[in-house]
Amino acid sequence: MIDMGNLGHTRYEVDGRVAIITIDRADKANAVNQQTLDEMDACFTTAAEDMEVRVIVLRAEGKHFSSGHDMSGSDDAIGDTADPEKAEQSAQLDWNERGLQAIYEWERVHYLGYSRKWRDIPKPTIAAVQGQCIAGGLMLCWPCDLIIAADNAKFSDPVLRMGIGGVEYHGHTWELGPRKAKEMLFTARKFSAEEAERLGMVNRVVPLDELMDQTMELAREIAEMHPFALTQAKRIVNQTVDIQGFYTALQSGFDMHTVGHGNALSVNGYPVLMNLSDMKKSNG
Ligand code: ZN
Repeated sequence: MIDMGNLGHTRYEVDGRVAIITIDRADKANAVNQQTLDEMDACFTTAAEDMEVRVIVLRAEGKHFSSGHDMSGSDDAIGDTADPEKAEQSAQLDWNERGLQAIYEWERVHYLGYSRKWRDIPKPTIAAVQGQCIAGGLMLCWPCDLIIAADNAKFSDPVLRMGIGGVEYHGHTWELGPRKAKEMLFTARKFSAEEAERLGMVNRVVPLDELMDQTMELAREIAEMHPFALTQAKRIVNQTVDIQGFYTALQSGFDMHTVGHGNALSVNGYPVLMNLSDMKKSNG
């Protein structure tokens, strides 16, 4: 149970009709671990249940929006993966004893589960993204209804370098379209804010020093709308995508991601492949 009066990885405030959730781990490039995710979920739930709150803004302190899952604790969390000890502590997985089942169950709740839940909160949500947004970082902003990107924002999913076909929440194809989704995954390259806007993944690109002002201006504008009409509009759009298979595809993407963990466990006893020689081994 999260004590909202004693948050350690996040901050929560309400400004008029807008709730602001801040990921507050700038010293870790806002990498997220279980505590961060549990606190974020408590913040989203508090905002969803507060009748005074009409719009929810998700932002992050510091230079980068999020370097993804907390595996190394460095600015380059994915690039050089894995100190196994730290990764194990941060993910709190008992995969050594329970194998793939432990990974599947933990990630189903904390990665796929939270991202899906936040995506369906019946109030508009806006993510304000600056700097790097890497892998697990995408799973924080993609579930939001709107994304405002600072002009220095960069979006990437380099999880293929770890021998896995992408992060747990497979938004890629829906956010970018099939070809660009494949390019993001196959090359692991960073997409600029401008490119993301052109592809429809981002609503607006703004100067870095105006990111919060413009995000709050948009949030306040939306907060003037009838709250139940906003709920209806959000549900119509989300349901339209769900009818096209969004939810089933997410599940399928998550299952495939788990296959990647399983392969890594079978090859080297660790849930991700750590370097190219391991990847060569796994490819036979
Ligand atoms: Zn995973």
